[in-house]
Amino acid sequence: MTTYLAPTRDMRFVIEELAGLDQLTGLPGYEEATPDLVEAILDEAAKLAGEVLAPLNKTGDTQGVHLKAGDVLTADGFKAAYQQFVEGGWNGISGAPDHGGQGLPELVLAATVEMWNAANMSFALCPLLNAGATEALKQHGSDALKAQYLPNMISGTWTGTMNLTEPQAGSDLSAVRAKAVPEADHYRLYGQKIFITWGDHDLADNVIHLVLARTPDAPEGVKGISLFLVPKFLVNADGSLGPRNDVHCVSVEHKLGIHASPTCVMSFGDQDGAIGYLVGRENKGLAHMFTMMNEARQKVGIQGLGIADRAYQQARDYAKDRIQGRPLDQKSGDRVAIIQHPDVRRMLMTMKSQVEAMRAFAYVMAADMDLAHKHPDATERQHRQARVDLLIPVLKGWCTELGVEIASTGVQVHGGMGYVEETGACQYLRDARVAPIYEGTTGIQAADLVGRKLAMRPGCGDGGT
Ligand SMILES: Cc1cc2nc3c(=O)[nH]c(=O)nc-3n(C[C@H](O)[C@H](O)[C@H](O)COP(=O)(O)OP(=O)(O)OC[C@H]3O[C@@H](n4cnc5c(N)ncnc54)[C@H](O)[C@@H]3O)c2cc1C
Repeated sequence: MTTYLAPTRDMRFVIEELAGLDQLTGLPGYEEATPDLVEAILDEAAKLAGEVLAPLNKTGDTQGVHLKAGDVLTADGFKAAYQQFVEGGWNGISGAPDHGGQGLPELVLAATVEMWNAANMSFALCPLLNAGATEALKQHGSDALKAQYLPNMISGTWTGTMNLTEPQAGSDLSAVRAKAVPEADHYRLYGQKIFITWGDHDLADNVIHLVLARTPDAPEGVKGISLFLVPKFLVNADGSLGPRNDVHCVSVEHKLGIHASPTCVMSFGDQDGAIGYLVGRENKGLAHMFTMMNEARQKVGIQGLGIADRAYQQARDYAKDRIQGRPLDQKSGDRVAIIQHPDVRRMLMTMKSQVEAMRAFAYVMAADMDLAHKHPDATERQHRQARVDLLIPVLKGWCTELGVEIASTGVQVHGGMGYVEETGACQYLRDARVAPIYEGTTGIQAADLVGRKLAMRPGCGDGGT
């Protein structure tokens, strides 16, 4: 079993010295995010990541998930760990206080997201998707939907998913065919979604799907897509859980990595139609879903950072233990640990410096997100948002590609032992490999950056740098 020790000192350096925690504590609602509080939060998160989540990483990899009588069952220990995660309030640390969240800055959340992903990437995907669904609902849902669903999603008692992909609609979502037929105060949804992360599971009481679908008279292409909330269990007016909705996981994928994260084929409306509720406006679904995708893309970028740091820690520790060869200038005498060989040091220092660069980038962007939400000056808010919009595809593309490269270098540091499962080094490479694919492939991030973002606000006419 490999260990994970969150680098809280390095994290605090970036939070305080590079991302500028002090400029956030002056913002309304963030007054309590002092360096002392942040230190205490990081220390507690490090304990949960290192002592509870990391030891389950290997178990999850070997056991995977199972579909039994229509329900997805997770690997041993995941349910209890998730309960601990929720009871500790970790799911809602940056959530809206009016819906039960703690309202801490994204900057603090970013450090915890790094820890969860480094400790156990499969586990971390569940709150990652939930965060995106929560944000989309918060920004675009009606007050009634928000009151009914947000508190449980923010606490983590219920988890959210993102249902975009269909067999014929992957990178190109204009090809989405799922249908939503209006009926009284709701809609009935029909269709199949594939690759749905944590689409069904036994960790939480309810699963809240955010689904892209078309109403009967919707125009072709992206202009005819709407966003719907479809709960696994319908929710009664008093907030209690009602009957099972007509949405089911019909299979789970067997895949290269993240074995403990269920990747589900979801079927909507096999019987009477799955009851769903419109989020935002009809035919504006893709724009609304972009709220969720941007949130998820930022966090998947941090996922690349987390898995890279875990691979680095593992490689460094192995290199300190593995005895092989003598220093170049000695023909006899004791053999040394491979960390003494310049080429191994080169690999380790490359990994470490790249991890630090990723962390700096990710945390500075998280602080920009906070300033974009809360800065009292509208021009500054706009400027920060523009930077975030521009840089999200860069963060997502660069950190996830580099995560794979670093995990691969980690295997190299181990020599042959990196290529067998025993050390754990190849799990990081297998797990990391998906991050440049989902939430928009690297090619799609490049197209977003060059085709959309660079053209949106040419130059720095807003006075930004
Ligand atoms: C483990 C896993 C979990 C996932 N979780 C979710 C989830 O929770 N919810 C969800 O909705 N989806 C999820 N997905 C789906 C994921 O988002 C898609 O796989 C991804 O967007 C790519 O779509 P695709 O697989 O259809 O590939 P394709 O779109 O067929 O792309 C294949 C290749 O063609 C390239 N390409 C495609 N179009 C263009 C273009 N216009 N220009 C240049 N290159 C292009 C791509 O970059 C890629 O290299 C998940 C996928 C996986 C593997």
